[in-house]
Amino acid sequence: MTVELISVGTEILLGSIVNTNAAYLAEQCAGLGLSCYYQSVVGDNAERLALTLKCAMERADIVILSGGLGPTEDDLTKETAAKLCGSRLVDNEDWRKRISEFFDARGMKPTENNWKQAKVPEGAIVLDNPNGTAPGLIMEQKNVRIILLPGPPNELVPMFETSVKPYLEQLAPGAIYSQTVKICGVGESKVETEIKDLIDAQTNPTLATYAKTGEVHLRVTASAGSEKEAKKLTKPMVKELKARFGADIYTTEDDVTLEKAVEDLLLANKLTLTCAESCTGGLLSARLVNVPGSSEVFKAGLVTYSNKAKRKLLNVKKSTLQKYGAVSAKTAEEMVKGAAFISKCDVTVATTGIAGPDGGTKEKPVGLVYIACSVKGKVTVKEYHFTGSRAKVRESAVSAALTLMRSCILEYISDITFRKK
Ligand code: ATP
Repeated sequence: MTVELISVGTEILLGSIVNTNAAYLAEQCAGLGLSCYYQSVVGDNAERLALTLKCAMERADIVILSGGLGPTEDDLTKETAAKLCGSRLVDNEDWRKRISEFFDARGMKPTENNWKQAKVPEGAIVLDNPNGTAPGLIMEQKNVRIILLPGPPNELVPMFETSVKPYLEQLAPGAIYSQTVKICGVGESKVETEIKDLIDAQTNPTLATYAKTGEVHLRVTASAGSEKEAKKLTKPMVKELKARFGADIYTTEDDVTLEKAVEDLLLANKLTLTCAESCTGGLLSARLVNVPGSSEVFKAGLVTYSNKAKRKLLNVKKSTLQKYGAVSAKTAEEMVKGAAFISKCDVTVATTGIAGPDGGTKEKPVGLVYIACSVKGKVTVKEYHFTGSRAKVRESAVSAALTLMRSCILEYISDITFRKK
């Protein structure tokens, strides 16, 4: 089955807002096994919206529109879709009541145009919206189903989860099962080269790659008569990916992030952690505390941004800073050793680099980052060259720090296991 997405709103066309709805809907539809070949963005213009919708209705089985369901004049998605389908807009009594209640609860009076939201195309399925005043709508036509969703993500996402997803699941025959294999520390092009044969030969299950900052996710999706069968179909592909990427895979579970995988390793091996951050300025610590229960392993995060802070808080030598500079392997090494000394933690990690956009030189360009990790006194320092904006360099440095910590901890575990044998 094919699905097409249309995002409605001049704000999106102008780039004033990021089209997160399309990203969310596309990912959800892929997870449901629906093929999405086209996505469009149209401004608040009835003529151009009608043209786009007409085209989508001719080539897709399902068209999902988001935005333009509000009470104002420029909200015309429902009116345009109804006109194209030859449906009248009629008052929906339940929704009129909902609007009254919504405004009563806030001590406000609905204005005349609020009642516009209680009008629905005749025969349409009305979807509940506990977070707003626009109902979602499904218009079932002969060859195509049109789904209208409100623009605000806090309305669209719950509506998709509770109403649209179950609707789509019962439309698509059989069941879909997806599993994500998450890889860190290997570049996207290398991953793609390694799996080119699998991608070329894919049928059921399918294999898709998603590049994230410092990570690549491989999504294996199978369809079958039941979820159990679909799950069975994904197994050989997941096994093959495990054989090809080995320890570079940090999880095969959807809800496990890289920071969670690192913290699980620390917890399982009763290790504690402290960070000393320069160029990442607390971003690494923030990622680590994203994980519920992180206090079990994460003890402290020091942002040592100035040379003075590096000296005073981490005992980085003045001579090191003078001879090698703050952005150097030697400084990263002394930072991580200093953090280990003052925190008495088993694992420490340090970042120092040039996030840009200024401050780069020929010898030390923007994007140069040193990351050091110490596990029970064994120190590893690595040099990285990241590209992109300041934010991107910092994000890349955080992912690299997590990846380096993971590999150093795994090495430590394998060393002690070897010694015990
Ligand atoms: P409302 O009832 O609030 O008017 P609506 O269905 O008419 O909702 P829009 O007016 O198109 O939706 O958008 C309302 C707000 O929702 C936008 O200002 C924006 O913040 C958010 N929004 C709309 N479309 C998107 C999108 N594609 N991605 C992310 N956010 C969006």
